[in-house]
Amino acid sequence: MQTATIQFDKFQAAKDDDCQARILAAREKLGKRLVILGHHYQHESVYRHADYTGDSLKLSKYCDSLDAEYIVFLGVHFMAEVADILSRPEQIVVLPDLAAGCSMADMANLAKVERSYRELSKVLDFDQTITPVTYINSAADLKAFCGEHGGIVCTSTNAPKILEWGFSQREKILFFPDQHLGRWSGYKMGIPLEQMPVWDPDLPMGGLTAQQIKDAKILLWKGHCSVHQMFRKQNIDQFRAQHPDGKVISHPETAFEVCINSDYVGSTEYILRTVSEAEPGSKWLVGTELNLVTRLADEMKPQNKLVQFMSHVVCECSTMARIDPQHLAWCLENLAEGNIVNQIKVPEHEAKLAKLTLDRMLAVS
Ligand code: SF4
Repeated sequence: MQTATIQFDKFQAAKDDDCQARILAAREKLGKRLVILGHHYQHESVYRHADYTGDSLKLSKYCDSLDAEYIVFLGVHFMAEVADILSRPEQIVVLPDLAAGCSMADMANLAKVERSYRELSKVLDFDQTITPVTYINSAADLKAFCGEHGGIVCTSTNAPKILEWGFSQREKILFFPDQHLGRWSGYKMGIPLEQMPVWDPDLPMGGLTAQQIKDAKILLWKGHCSVHQMFRKQNIDQFRAQHPDGKVISHPETAFEVCINSDYVGSTEYILRTVSEAEPGSKWLVGTELNLVTRLADEMKPQNKLVQFMSHVVCECSTMARIDPQHLAWCLENLAEGNIVNQIKVPEHEAKLAKLTLDRMLAVS
């Protein structure tokens, strides 16, 4: 029988240990009606409850094959939107804290992208010459924009393949919202840096001349990840001075200077696989989110591998950190009582267009 919704303030001051016990009790009650997906950047206190873990691409691939009635997402808002778009209509996707957004995703919004479309259309025929490519770290309405304009979604795993697809459709790409992933992927394809100018959506004509737009191969949206921008070449230089035999591995959301000075660059799944499969006793400097690196360092200790975080300052994704044991316990207890809280539901017309681009991406990758 359904009861009144349990208010979050009852959980606000709850101790972590109490919440852990309450999460387990609610899970027991929900049984197979519930599945929990956890992104690698989540803190261990909630990550341990995930049935499936992964980066954005891996988690999105799970979504259309899950049977559970409730999908609880330990991640940020755009990831829960993707889960809603790819799951069946009757399934309910829940984000334990609605304030868990992504600062990078927020750097592009539909109004700015549509204004950019209008401005670029003054210089060239957008729909004939530009493939819009959005990183999966973006709101559903931007994925829908790409669906409407012959574009596609990419992740950090498949970005180079997706760019190839984009160029097979049209001669140029507008890449948003992460300039660093776009630049690194384009560079790996052999595109000169001067043909990948930054498009600043807050300036008239993106801050570019008509000639610069015509000469560009990729227009890079002026956006970045606040976590990955903290890593510096100096961090790499210091590590190499201390450990000349060590290796450096970075996520492509880091700045170009960091990527080019790393031995390996790739998605979180790639980072996990590369370090896990490396020789026992090897030494690694890792440029990605702190929770992932801390977990990896612990896992690698029995093999005597040194796994060092790239920055001296804490680079945790603060929005991911909003998903804590208190919010997870609160939403699971409500679900166990038949109360749906924090459901993520993408409007149908948006979901349809966004799904088109996600399906394109899954087919290409
Ligand atoms: S790490 Fe960066 S890109 Fe990833 S969710 Fe956090 S803010 Fe967004």
